[in-house]
Amino acid sequence: VNRRLAEFGTTIFAEMSALALRTGSINLGQGFPDTDGPEEVREAAVRALRDGRGNQYPPGPGVPELRTAIAAHQERRYGLSYDPDTEVLVTAGATEAIAAALLALLETGDEVVALEPYYDSYAACIAMAGGTRVPVTLRPHEGAFRLDLDELRAAVTDRTRLLLINTPHNPTGTVLTRAELTAIAELAVERDLLVVTDEVYEHLVFDEAEHVPLATLPGMRERTVSIGSAGKTFSFTGWKVGWVTAAPGLVAAVRSAKQFLTYVASGPFQYAVAEALALPDSYFTAFRDDMLTKRDLLATGLAEAGFGVFRPAGTYFVTTDIRPLGEQDGFAFCRALPERAGVVAIPNAVFYDHREAGAPFVRFAFCKRTGVLEEATRRLKTLG
Ligand code: PMP
Ligand code: GLN
Repeated sequence: VNRRLAEFGTTIFAEMSALALRTGSINLGQGFPDTDGPEEVREAAVRALRDGRGNQYPPGPGVPELRTAIAAHQERRYGLSYDPDTEVLVTAGATEAIAAALLALLETGDEVVALEPYYDSYAACIAMAGGTRVPVTLRPHEGAFRLDLDELRAAVTDRTRLLLINTPHNPTGTVLTRAELTAIAELAVERDLLVVTDEVYEHLVFDEAEHVPLATLPGMRERTVSIGSAGKTFSFTGWKVGWVTAAPGLVAAVRSAKQFLTYVASGPFQYAVAEALALPDSYFTAFRDDMLTKRDLLATGLAEAGFGVFRPAGTYFVTTDIRPLGEQDGFAFCRALPERAGVVAIPNAVFYDHREAGAPFVRFAFCKRTGVLEEATRRLKTLG
């Protein structure tokens, strides 16, 4: 492997899921639901397969039905109007959207300011694109990981090309507030930066938190590449259907990279996701409410087991602090956890350049059946 990729090794998600299988542990590491998405959406995929829709290469930008459904979803939820023909691009999951956006928009040596901890593919894709990542660390403050806006401003230099934002945020569960996003938007406008915003957990926002798409803020629509995923919103992570919405020039740029990565993907699933996006609001509400119940179950169980718990405002992850258990090193803790308790979790340190800042934090996923979460917390309570 070349020098650009050498530092990344194997993604933590593959490593930890393999560990869970090998040890027969409950896997609260990699974020995937253990219950598939809606039956009618699965049926829609079967119908597409049977009717021969999408069994051959679909159109490069995605099938028209799905592009129209994505545009309608952005309009209905956020009042954002996108032209399905020029402002929407279907990708092989959000992962490809991130890769294609960075490969298309970065010149060698461009700096990318990203929130740290960051989803692991960000760092690898910035490197593959020849860019330089400049992490801004989210720091624990009153029970949540928060962004220091002065640090963010200080991270922008003359070489900064784009801001890479993620809200709701994996792994911390932070949902950036309207005030924080407004400050990010003002910075982007003032310094004439592009923004790539990963909003794959847009429908998983709890309590008083509100998901504010960056593209809705003043001056942002024309400079923002927004990313979504059917894997997250409809619990079909194996289908790999994601999308980009942005102004025509930006979509064209992302597409120019995407066409040489996968060309196209997920033919029949695209038709099914088009139907999924048209589900009534009750689907999205029930999905969120179900995850909220699970969040409370796991967060409470982890607190009872002695972890410091950052109760997430969004996503299906809860970040914990292991220091109250007398532990310091999340890596060592996660490696030993299958043996000690039969549970797998993710050490947040892998999402940091400043590893020491992430050392005592460990992430658990709660997109699992209630009985699984109960058994996991029962096991974790034996740790103390
Ligand atoms: N971004 C974030 C923040 C994620 O958590 C994930 C989930 N793995 C992705 C992107 C990738 O999404 P997809 O499975 O659609 O490629
Ligand atoms: N996004 C998921 C997580 O954060 C996993 C994605 C993956 O395995 N690449 O756990």
